Amino acid sequence: MKKKILPLLTALFAFCISACNQTASSDTPKSSGTPSSVVTPSSSVNSVESKSSSKTTSSSNVTSSSSAKSSVISSSTTSSSSRPISSSTPASSSSAQSSNSTPASSSSTSSSSDRPKNVTLDIFAFNDNHGCVKDTQGKGIGIAKLTTFVKQKTANKNAVLISQGDMWQGSVESNYTKGNLMTEWMNQLGFVSMTVGNHEYDWGKDYIIQNQELANFPTLGINVLNKSNSQRVDYLSPSITFEKAGAKIGVIGAIGNCLSSISSSKVKDVYFATGDALTTLVKNEATRLRNTEKCDFIIYSIHGDAKNDDQDYYDTSLSTGNYVDLVLEGHTHQAYAYQDNGGVYHVQNNGYNESVYDIVVNLDLETSSYTVSPTFYDTSYYSSYKNLDEDITTLNIINKYYDKFSFAYEELGTIDGFKDPNTIRSKVADLYLEVGTQRWGNQYNLILGGGYMSCRGNGLQAGTVRYSDISNLLPFDNEIVLCSIRGSDLANTQFITGADTYFVTWSNYGNSMKDSINYSSTYYLITDTYSSDYSYNHLTVVDTYDVGVYARDLLAIFIQNGGWAYIPPVSDHAGTIDDPKTISEAIDYARHHEGQNASAAGSEGFFYKGVVTRQAAQLSTLSGDLNAVYVADALGGDDMQIYYLKRNQYRNPNWETVNDLIVGDVIVFYGQAFNYNSRILEFASGAYCVSINGVSTD
Ligand SMILES: [Zn+2]
Repeated sequence: MKKKILPLLTALFAFCISACNQTASSDTPKSSGTPSSVVTPSSSVNSVESKSSSKTTSSSNVTSSSSAKSSVISSSTTSSSSRPISSSTPASSSSAQSSNSTPASSSSTSSSSDRPKNVTLDIFAFNDNHGCVKDTQGKGIGIAKLTTFVKQKTANKNAVLISQGDMWQGSVESNYTKGNLMTEWMNQLGFVSMTVGNHEYDWGKDYIIQNQELANFPTLGINVLNKSNSQRVDYLSPSITFEKAGAKIGVIGAIGNCLSSISSSKVKDVYFATGDALTTLVKNEATRLRNTEKCDFIIYSIHGDAKNDDQDYYDTSLSTGNYVDLVLEGHTHQAYAYQDNGGVYHVQNNGYNESVYDIVVNLDLETSSYTVSPTFYDTSYYSSYKNLDEDITTLNIINKYYDKFSFAYEELGTIDGFKDPNTIRSKVADLYLEVGTQRWGNQYNLILGGGYMSCRGNGLQAGTVRYSDISNLLPFDNEIVLCSIRGSDLANTQFITGADTYFVTWSNYGNSMKDSINYSSTYYLITDTYSSDYSYNHLTVVDTYDVGVYARDLLAIFIQNGGWAYIPPVSDHAGTIDDPKTISEAIDYARHHEGQNASAAGSEGFFYKGVVTRQAAQLSTLSGDLNAVYVADALGGDDMQIYYLKRNQYRNPNWETVNDLIVGDVIVFYGQAFNYNSRILEFASGAYCVSINGVSTD
């Protein structure tokens, strides 16, 4: 195969054997949270000493915080900076507690006299940026414009930038710099912390450590624990504290219950504490931050979503017990700001820089009370911020790494029409089978290619396609593998049971055996390491395709070789066969016979007319012979694959050279269309063909 891109990629990937989690990070429609302000109970409320006493404390505080909350919510839905907080803060309940557990009073008494009475902070929350360096994905504005936005919004404010994780993986600019570019960008803006997300593990912990060394801020993960000793991993921190305008702020970071969304080989040594174990970790740390570190305000930064997930990581006793004062979230790419039943705000943004919350916190350090007022900013591609100037410092960071990803801007080809995510995932399954057959077909009877497939974004637009476009859709670094599986296991896998996240292309052999699986036989299939890592698939990796070649590379080569190519209509002369149908008509026919195999469809044959889109010479490296071609309807652009196409049913049945059919030839062929695997439409073996304006037809 003549492929420009593969050697480049192989060289790039040689140093990084990586796999990745391809959790379908849903691109959900943005829902702007309702900015509102509230008086929440004093952060002081000292309910953070021993667990038993905090129960008592929290119950008394719940009462007061509830009343505080209701009185405020009803009165305010927009940002307000000053609330009558004295009546609503549970000062009396605080003082009613044992004095040594009252951090507010102890911190205020121990503070110097020049400690300000009031401090206003602007906390800017970021999550799931997914390496959205440029604005070419049609999602958020790229980081150069986002920086301009942030600089404008933070000017003359006590601004604090905090990330809830999944910052790196997702674009060529970030993937091929392994997060370094994004980390440098975060350094420039002065982030105080980043909580580790599941996708930070896509390339393994070594890259988390490497980025940590580059970062001017800690990576937080209080609940990422070693399996060996249940201690927190040493490359993550439980929290950070810092001073801002005279106030002491603490940030505790945790990852949600999303271990299973990470390729298991990347997290085989760790687990994430969840449920009561996580709550205990956070309560203990919050207690330490209040009592020992004398924090005035505690932020809980989680890579998880307490609103939309049923994940077991947010215990509202953290709110009702006043352990934390603000919860910043991530992972589900949903923008919201709401208060839980403890009066504590939970805030998340859309992914890919599509939104930013500015959370204004007014701290009264004398009474240890505060107000929180989140303001939502739509920074999506379709917002007016798209027109901002690009920040020069950020452009310099991007340019510094340019050589690492510039290859991805080269044009691969031009496609004939929009390709939706399912079409792309189906094509990847085809390509897994094709390259697997090419590599291992002589040794193994392969049954299928495919597996769990995620595809980011909305698909590929018609026209020019670059590697960066494909990488945005398929950013997952999962290598392609030959696997074996016992028949008894195969019957129960999602390859067979048909989960809609599994995309599978059956081989002819696979089609012949899938309804009669022998439980004691061993079968072979082509998938990638995300599916082979998934223990419930019961797969054993037999061999690995080229190191550093992923689904997106196969799709890039496919397009580079003319796949889905736009073929200009070719003028033809009168057909040699009467009444030929178009490919579109053929496809319609085949769809009406969905589920039928070649023999079952045999009762009816049609003539069809189409244009050859891929030459046998190109196919030969994928399919190994001259028996398959792709044809497209010159008018509708529909694409159809034909196997075992004979030149003539009776005489000279095989094509003789690769030039017998060339791209652009208009052909008419006869056969029985059928639905190969509910996605690929084909003709059965025995279809025969007459070339109209190609070579002579005898
Ligand atoms: Zn995530």
